Amino acid sequence: MAYVISDDCISCGACAGECPVGCISEGDGKYVINADECVSCGSCAGVCPVGAPSEA
Ligand code: SF4
Ligand code: SF4
Repeated sequence: MAYVISDDCISCGACAGECPVGCISEGDGKYVINADECVSCGSCAGVCPVGAPSEA
């Protein structure tokens, strides 16, 4: 099960630098996770200041 980023995202970019597989990129108004590459490690959720990433 991949992680997803909610609309709470403030586009700070912290999660993208923590992702071990580099599957987080800046999208339109928020960051987005490529579900096909996400290995559900939870690192993005651990660094996000607003709790936007969660397991789908
Ligand atoms: Fe990347 Fe891990 Fe977050 Fe998936 S759960 S997007 S692999 S940091
Ligand atoms: Fe958005 Fe959280 Fe990632 Fe920052 S760390 S870009 S607020 S999901």
